[in-house]
Amino acid sequence: MHIALLLTGNELMTGDTVDTNSAMIAQRLASDGFDVVHKVTVGDSQSLLIEELKQLASRYPVIIVNGGLGPTIDDLTSLVVASLCGLPLVEHPDARKHLDEWCIKRGYTSNQANLKQALLPAGAHVLANPVGSAVGFAVDYDGCTILTTPGVPSELRAMLAGDVITALHKKFPDAKARLIRRLKIFGLGESQVQQRVVDDIPSWPEQVQIGFRAGLPLLELKLEVESDKALPLRAQCEHQLRALFGNYIIGENDETLAEIVVALLKAKGQKLTLAESCTGGAIAAQITSVAGASDVFDAGIVSYSNAIKHRVLDVPTEVLAREGAVSRDVALSMARGALRLSAADFVIAVTGIAGPGGGSDEKPVGTVWIAWGSSDNLKVEKFCYGVARSRFQTMITAVGLDLLRRQLQNIDEVPNYFRGKRP
Ligand code: AMP
Ligand code: MG
Repeated sequence: MHIALLLTGNELMTGDTVDTNSAMIAQRLASDGFDVVHKVTVGDSQSLLIEELKQLASRYPVIIVNGGLGPTIDDLTSLVVASLCGLPLVEHPDARKHLDEWCIKRGYTSNQANLKQALLPAGAHVLANPVGSAVGFAVDYDGCTILTTPGVPSELRAMLAGDVITALHKKFPDAKARLIRRLKIFGLGESQVQQRVVDDIPSWPEQVQIGFRAGLPLLELKLEVESDKALPLRAQCEHQLRALFGNYIIGENDETLAEIVVALLKAKGQKLTLAESCTGGAIAAQITSVAGASDVFDAGIVSYSNAIKHRVLDVPTEVLAREGAVSRDVALSMARGALRLSAADFVIAVTGIAGPGGGSDEKPVGTVWIAWGSSDNLKVEKFCYGVARSRFQTMITAVGLDLLRRQLQNIDEVPNYFRGKRP
């Protein structure tokens, strides 16, 4: 089930576009049991593309070509594959029909440049593109199946889920979905997690592969087995991990902290409000990225300046002057102000120094006060996480959500999120 990727485009070589498509392809294929084992990136050069295709075709049963299906003259994929296979480029009736329908839907008249997208190597099999003008196609060359896909990520995603996966299953009828289970952890470091697994579960069964991935902000533990027979063993390992990491396991598979918080609030029929300073609305963005967030979220305030903290959230000016904006009392006052303003049941309020400027000996860059909870059970904590600004914002956003998750799940323990650095 080995697959090679050929990523094309001058923009990938110059760095104007960062390649994210190869990760998308590899991840999507892996869950169905197909492994990307080789990837090559080449600019829009006919000779280089042909050379690479020849080499890859001699080594792998399938090549997925990405990019170069567009209407411009630097989009060379059809031309190159036709030339490699010694086939003429001809207008494919299905590709033409797709293009005509696509143009009619959008009120365009197709021009010569568009029509180029219907020219495919003679005998190619069309791979449908449900969301774009250019179809992909499949041809066989020297025993290798070449599948071509568009560079635009949303089009690629749709095509992978459709005709590409179908074509791969046809080529490899024995491919089986990978038996993977992912546990998401927040509040512990990667080395801590690894060490505890080694120390506490010394006789880890060989049939269950364990993988660690430190994402931002969540850490992932991946458990994989080869056959259905090993599933009970995998379940047993999961049970042990759950006993070991308890409430630090926030969810499974693709779940996010925001999804979990929204679900917990929905289950209670209660609402959340936010008062954000150093996270600049990132918590609100996370919450509103969850479908159905409107059931639990009416408003959040981005109160960046002291003046707005006072005017909108009623933080007393004397407290701001005496304690400074990054302080326990201001965090609590922001939280109460947001609760009053919105009539929500729960709040997360954040005030901190994201840096790189603005730190002092007393309050170094990374100092942050978070207040969270409900008006009759409002808590407040100080953390310090002095890292680059964007990392600080991502992690503090997650900490705010996790603190509320813990309260909603009646967990009293507050993690030492930034090991050893909590003041
Ligand atoms: P193309 O299909 O070659 O016309 O590519 C269309 C657009 O897709 C390019 O302008 C890029 O913005 C984007 N694109 C192409 N290849 C990639 C890639 N490997 N990762 C992410 N985006 C890509
Ligand atoms: Mg291109």
